[in-house]
Amino acid sequence: MSYLTRSVSELKGVGKTRAMQLSKLGISTVGDLIYYFPRAYEMRGNVRPVIELTADTPSSVILTVGTRVSSARLRSGRTIFKFKAFDDTGAVEVVFFNSPYVKDIFTVGSQFRFYGKFTRMKNQIQLISPKYEPYIDGVPLADYIPVYPLTEGLSSKIIDKLILSVIDEALSNVIDYLPENLRLAHSLPSLTYAIRSAHFPKNSEDLSLALRRLAFDEMLLFGLGIAYQSGRKNNSIGITFAPCSLKPLLDLLPYELTNDQKNAVNDIYKDTVLSPKDSNSPPMSRILVGDVGSGKTVCAIIAMYIAAKSGYQSAMMVPTEILARQHFSDIRKIFDKLGIRVELLLGSTTAKEKKRIYAEVAENKVDVIIGTHSLISDKLEFNSLGLVITDEQHRFGVAQRASLKEKSLPCHMLVMSATPIPRTLALAMYGDLDVSRIVEMPKGRMKVDTFVVDSNYRQRLNDFIKKQVALGGQVYVVCPAIESKDEENDRKIITPISISYPFENAETLPMKNAVEHTNDLRSALPELRIECLHGKMKAGDKDRIMNDFAEAKIDVLVSTTVIEVGVNVPNACVMIIENADRFGLASLHQLRGRVGRGRRKSYCVLVSDSDNEKSRSRLEVMRTTSDGYEIAERDLLLRGPGDFFSLNSNDNFRQSGGFSFKFAKLCDDTNLFETAFSEAKRIILSDPTLSRAENLLLREKLGDLISRTSSTIS
Ligand code: ADP
Ligand code: MG
Repeated sequence: MSYLTRSVSELKGVGKTRAMQLSKLGISTVGDLIYYFPRAYEMRGNVRPVIELTADTPSSVILTVGTRVSSARLRSGRTIFKFKAFDDTGAVEVVFFNSPYVKDIFTVGSQFRFYGKFTRMKNQIQLISPKYEPYIDGVPLADYIPVYPLTEGLSSKIIDKLILSVIDEALSNVIDYLPENLRLAHSLPSLTYAIRSAHFPKNSEDLSLALRRLAFDEMLLFGLGIAYQSGRKNNSIGITFAPCSLKPLLDLLPYELTNDQKNAVNDIYKDTVLSPKDSNSPPMSRILVGDVGSGKTVCAIIAMYIAAKSGYQSAMMVPTEILARQHFSDIRKIFDKLGIRVELLLGSTTAKEKKRIYAEVAENKVDVIIGTHSLISDKLEFNSLGLVITDEQHRFGVAQRASLKEKSLPCHMLVMSATPIPRTLALAMYGDLDVSRIVEMPKGRMKVDTFVVDSNYRQRLNDFIKKQVALGGQVYVVCPAIESKDEENDRKIITPISISYPFENAETLPMKNAVEHTNDLRSALPELRIECLHGKMKAGDKDRIMNDFAEAKIDVLVSTTVIEVGVNVPNACVMIIENADRFGLASLHQLRGRVGRGRRKSYCVLVSDSDNEKSRSRLEVMRTTSDGYEIAERDLLLRGPGDFFSLNSNDNFRQSGGFSFKFAKLCDDTNLFETAFSEAKRIILSDPTLSRAENLLLREKLGDLISRTSSTIS
């Protein structure tokens, strides 16, 4: 048995409790342990003089304790411990809470390396609850301290120690699965080097080499997985729809299609009508990507029309009930006139109604059915399903998408997404799908004026809300959190569209939460109808509030990012985003897309008190750009490709287990992504079953991942 498969409970210092804690982190063997990588690194090596400290950026200082530790009880019941410490350039007040032991540690005259975030209070620089290490002149301290993801009772230090105790023997058992020539061609270090340096980086070059290798592996394996899978998907043959004229439908539209819409429709027509004739063609497997408001729905309507004209049924799946209702009413307006029968199926549809719909769908009395994921989970049986459409696909997991695909074979599949993805990443994001893009916006769209303000503008902002409502408009206010003290929980909820910065610590500025902010606004603007909407509410309540807002029964809707999904309220003309620096560009863009949909002049106000340079420049991009693709490209440049994975697919892949983008997320090298994907393609092309000698280990590794992954990839 290899050392790598040995149970961690056999290690020295690991008792029952510890083993249990470790298993909570998914660590049961030595192999798991050395593959348990830090989620971030504290760059403590970069020691700065006090005089150069800037607020809100974590930094290191070496300070001499200058006063005795004093303590005081706060009204909150906490005890505060304070002392002054200094270097040659200035003094800092160091603060700890509820930590009486610090009195014994920080004796006058002793030296420490402190690491943390500094705040400026009037003329005083404060360092609150910093990390610290005794500093002795001439004894070097590590430049990078790994920070491990933790569970209760386990500290980063404990994990660090455990890994240190096994690393040598463990690494001597690790076999590098990457073909040597590939590794050398891209100047990547060996796997053992990378693993060691990821845990114990000597310096920044060392660390970035390691991360580069590990990121490359993730992307290559992912690319291989996709290429492998799509190489095998082509067995089924697509249904052929009959040629038909689109004129009756197009005549009903109050506008002309844009060129991009026409191209998308042509792509769909080719996939479903023209090419399946040569009988080897697989079913359509296409994604339609277009910015918010670019007019994807009508392309879907046309596709469903083509299906219906051939006597095939279509199903359209959307992520929320409210959006399903909206599509249903829009689509029915057109299809009613064409004799195409449309039904709506929701989780909340009554049992009796459901029964009727099931029966009519089974008897082919329904041509088009629109609904939420109840479309896949329910006992819905189609008579002649020919086309399956998923709207806002980034909201569904890979697993859901795959199970729909499975159910729908050999149907044609069209998915739609409003998240503009830079071209370079399209393969990774969409993998096995053909892509149609809508770049051009319909004519007559008004630009949304965007402002960046800080909270000193609160009064003026409230006046602005009042004025816009008085003019008949409606206002969205988006906050990053739901309730106070809820940061951790809420983080989970906002994950799909919020961005984390593994290498910068999260901002410590106070975060607006929707519940409190609603109350604040209600007292500031008592004459307005203000409601709160967030992800912890019951689905029914959410829908009711969203409906009331759509019907203008609510003036101001305060919410978390739950409103992001494509709901259309053309009368809404102001989008205020609190703590805007906490959102990624793509999310900000999506949120802004909620306004400017009607005839009203619309505004987006980004509220941020951050003076972090990166945050400021992201907000500046928002202020000056309205093109989703440009924003996506700028986002890519500013933050690297990693965040696109957390933004668009991380959740999905977490569900699917094996593939993760831990390192790809940290990686800021766009070229590496392209390189890895094109290598994956090349390898699969030249050796589709990965059976050449140099690829055998790679296949084993891939097989490992795939077997750990749900049926979606196998
Ligand atoms: P999205 O791509 O975000 O799903 P929609 O399909 O909801 O966008 O379209 C947004 C709005 O634009 C709708 O009100 C739709 O009627 C309108 N629209 C779509 N195509 C055109 C067009 N070619 N010209 C003018 N308006 C259009
Ligand atoms: Mg839409």
